[in-house]
Amino acid sequence: MDKHSKIYVAGHRGMVGSAVVRRLQTEGYRNIVTRTSRELDLRNQAAVNDFFAEERPEIVVLAAAKVGGILANSTYPAQFLYDNLIIAANVIHAAHENGVTKLLNLGSSCIYPRMAPQPLQETALLTGPLEETNRAYAVAKIAAIELCDHYRTQYGDDFISAMPTNLYGPGDNFDLQGSHVLPALMRKMVEAKERRAPQVEVWGSGRPMREFLYADDLADACLFLLRHVSVPGPINVGTGQDLSIRELAELIRDVVGYEGELVFDPSKPDGTPRKLLDVSRLAALGWTARTGLREGIEKTLAWYLQARREAS
Ligand code: GDP
Repeated sequence: MDKHSKIYVAGHRGMVGSAVVRRLQTEGYRNIVTRTSRELDLRNQAAVNDFFAEERPEIVVLAAAKVGGILANSTYPAQFLYDNLIIAANVIHAAHENGVTKLLNLGSSCIYPRMAPQPLQETALLTGPLEETNRAYAVAKIAAIELCDHYRTQYGDDFISAMPTNLYGPGDNFDLQGSHVLPALMRKMVEAKERRAPQVEVWGSGRPMREFLYADDLADACLFLLRHVSVPGPINVGTGQDLSIRELAELIRDVVGYEGELVFDPSKPDGTPRKLLDVSRLAALGWTARTGLREGIEKTLAWYLQARREAS
């Protein structure tokens, strides 16, 4: 991969894709190809084939996906399964047919069995039942890893898969019905502070444990993987550290400067009890995360406040 390589970033408007594009640009990559979903519907096989035949990218980052938090995943499972399956099948097959030399497929830590030993090792894949609240999404992401691995075995394609832990950062989704916990709590606390509301609602018991990776750290890992790594199977990308949802809520409250109370709503689902990645495979390959959680939350808050000002 050199600075003139033609790199297609699928999903460049999402939090991950936009972080990857930013990173490629600062590193001097000049030949980046993108399409909005309106320009190219990745669920449309003929359109995807035409796009690849025309553009002939050399490298592909597959960061396009239908994503969402615990509520969105359990409300729209058919869409989460269908969209993600067909996007992966279309893009991976078209990459194969059109001579793509390297493809990085992005998945998620929810691919691992709900009760797999923690921290989650890559070898836990397909060893037990999945977490119910995001099974549809997880099955699609597992199928994408399988596609990459089997195209490698059968055709020799250099297609690799990274499994990031829960992500957050600039460009995240702050819609309370669809978002993940970190942006949701950030928004709730910013708004509660403004309204001087006495309390903020946190879903579930506050006891589930989660790990959070800053999106720009993931982008850094993506470049590292594209340049240096060529192996089958999922590669975990995380910080190797987790905290409870209660601790996360307290940390966000502190960074936002909200002084009200946190109220837990046990009628909302907790989801999987713990989801910490074992990141030793990637560490052995030579990469570790840099941004601490407080620093990442501060940067995300700055981005969010700016985005709100621009929108109003
Ligand atoms: P998950 O990691 O796939 O379970 O997805 P989420 O990021 O949506 O949720 C993580 C945990 O945070 C779950 O236990 C949620 O119940 C909890 N949580 C607490 N408050 C919120 C909130 O306002 N929004 C979301 N999405 N999750 C919340």
